[in-house]
Amino acid sequence: CGITACVGCEEAVSTLLSGLDNLEYRGYDSAGIAVPNGASLEVVKRSGEVAELARRVRRDRPGGTTGIGHTRWSTHGEPSDENAHPHTDCTGRVAVVHNGIVENYASLRDRLRASGHVLDSETDTEVVPHLVEEYLAAGATPVDALRATLGDIDGSYAIAMVVADSDRVYAARNGSPLVLGLGDDANYLASDVPAFIERTDSVVYLDDGDVVAIGPNHYEVTGADGRVRDRPVRTVE
Ligand code: GLU
Repeated sequence: CGITACVGCEEAVSTLLSGLDNLEYRGYDSAGIAVPNGASLEVVKRSGEVAELARRVRRDRPGGTTGIGHTRWSTHGEPSDENAHPHTDCTGRVAVVHNGIVENYASLRDRLRASGHVLDSETDTEVVPHLVEEYLAAGATPVDALRATLGDIDGSYAIAMVVADSDRVYAARNGSPLVLGLGDDANYLASDVPAFIERTDSVVYLDDGDVVAIGPNHYEVTGADGRVRDRPVRTVE
């Protein structure tokens, strides 16, 4: 189970795939990526190895400089193409990857279905993009929509999200690791430093409760209350 993300990379797809390769030691059963491409998102995901995903992507390569990637270790729903991450909302404009467990997903899924959402995976994760979709529709910014969604879910998680028409990655952690990598005109995010160590050794470890919005030259860590949190920049060996 691992998360990778990059913002402002020359080639998001190859950066994400190499990040996932570097996280294979964590174990997984499925892999996938999402890359914003104008008004839509390109999502490629499947059960099986990262090498399989890479073969699939080579045939049908999403462009773009920003994206998220995931290796899944199933907890809810069998390993399948459908259950692989990223998961998207009804509009196809929000994509989310998640490590951990959303404990109260069943009641959230019932509530979302009752208000017309179509959820078609067996995962606990899929409620997240649909909740974000509701907050976006109500006028929230992406980072506020993610923050509001975190208020609805119980459990442990690391989450990363992309939204169509945005060159940012949004992320949050509570109980699962996430570390930011700071590059030149490009930033990275992952479950662990090896994902991006070939690209930068300048890192910021996120803490439980942190929410981060990442641009190519800028990032901002805030808490559940929206206040800015200061996190030290470290250099890793
Ligand atoms: N609970 C999620 C799932 O089963 C995420 C598992 C993981 O940490 O990879 O899809």
